[in-house]
Amino acid sequence: MEQKEQREKIYLSSPTMHGEEQKFVAEAFDTNWVAPLGPNVNNFEKEMAEYTGCGYAAALSAGTAAIHLALRLIGIQPGDIVFSSDLTFSATCNPICYEKGTPVFIDSEEDTWNMDPQALKKAFEKYPQVKAVICAHLYGTPAKIDEIRALCDAYRVPLIEDAAESLSSTFRGQMTGTFGDYGIFSFNGNKIITTSGGGMLVSSDEKAIEKARFLSTQARDKARHYQHSQLGFNYRMSNVVAGIGRGQLIHLEEHKRKKKEIYRQYKEAFADIPALAMNPMNPDGDANNWLSCMTIEPESGVTPDMVMDALEAENIESRPIWKPMHLQPFYENCDFIAMEENGSVGERIFKKGFCLPSDIKNTPADMELIIGIIRSFFV
Ligand SMILES: *Cc1c(COP(=O)(O)O)cnc(C)c1O
Repeated sequence: MEQKEQREKIYLSSPTMHGEEQKFVAEAFDTNWVAPLGPNVNNFEKEMAEYTGCGYAAALSAGTAAIHLALRLIGIQPGDIVFSSDLTFSATCNPICYEKGTPVFIDSEEDTWNMDPQALKKAFEKYPQVKAVICAHLYGTPAKIDEIRALCDAYRVPLIEDAAESLSSTFRGQMTGTFGDYGIFSFNGNKIITTSGGGMLVSSDEKAIEKARFLSTQARDKARHYQHSQLGFNYRMSNVVAGIGRGQLIHLEEHKRKKKEIYRQYKEAFADIPALAMNPMNPDGDANNWLSCMTIEPESGVTPDMVMDALEAENIESRPIWKPMHLQPFYENCDFIAMEENGSVGERIFKKGFCLPSDIKNTPADMELIIGIIRSFFV
């Protein structure tokens, strides 16, 4: 039987390796710094701190672990209220529950799809006892982080910036992840740079980052015998994994340029179709466009599912928008703060939006194919 030649799958956002990664990994092997820690970990932290201007960084096994440790460092206790972005990946808020805190979800704004500062203000008025705020920069678009920071300062509440998706994005020239008391990054497989899996906790507070390193390596007290006066975690990044990160970091700005170009091409290609809009940019920011997203107006009669099905039939990966946390069965008993009486901005974006293939290895032919499939629904 003759098989029809299959074009290679077009991915949403798959790892892009360059070669330097292997050099750093090989170094780890050659010097037998395979485990536990070692020069790649220290250097990756230093290089990330320099690149972002965050001050200090602790390399960890995941972005989720970084959020968890930030909450530990802040001292979240059972029953404490923590505000969280609503339209985001569940990893943003799950660590609140690891500490038995109580998440309260804050609706998004149309302007950036991120936490609405007005809804945040409303939440502070309702829960002045709140202990922390976690704000994500969705799909790499910076939130109105100056307004969010100012509100947190006014209420003297620490801010954790979930910059897992926004590494290299800036707000008024400053890197996202460096506005909060703590910032976190992720190097998961589909992020703008990857270590196969990993994360980083950053802060301008050197002592806090030292403490994070201590907590992430089982919280061993300074003693020859194994002594623990605090609860520890096994959250540290390995020296092999950090080697991949160092190699990737060299190419971060290049990845960003390519991601921005993909967004630009989509925006231009659909500009003449009134039912379609790209995810909005923050005019005060420079996004990394980690994932390009679009919305389809329901009046067009075309749904995101129809388009995603058509792409899938051509072996092209796309993805729905994150389902808002206040609509998740696990979080159904949590409070949700929105500026609208009925429904929410987040739910509307979830229903009419989806993520476009944003892989930086997409060829011009791939882009043409994707754009053609989507346009065929409208013209
Ligand atoms: C990927 C992601 C995380 C979690 O990062 P991991 O490294 O996978 O644990 C957290 N928040 C957001 C918004 C993410 O997209």
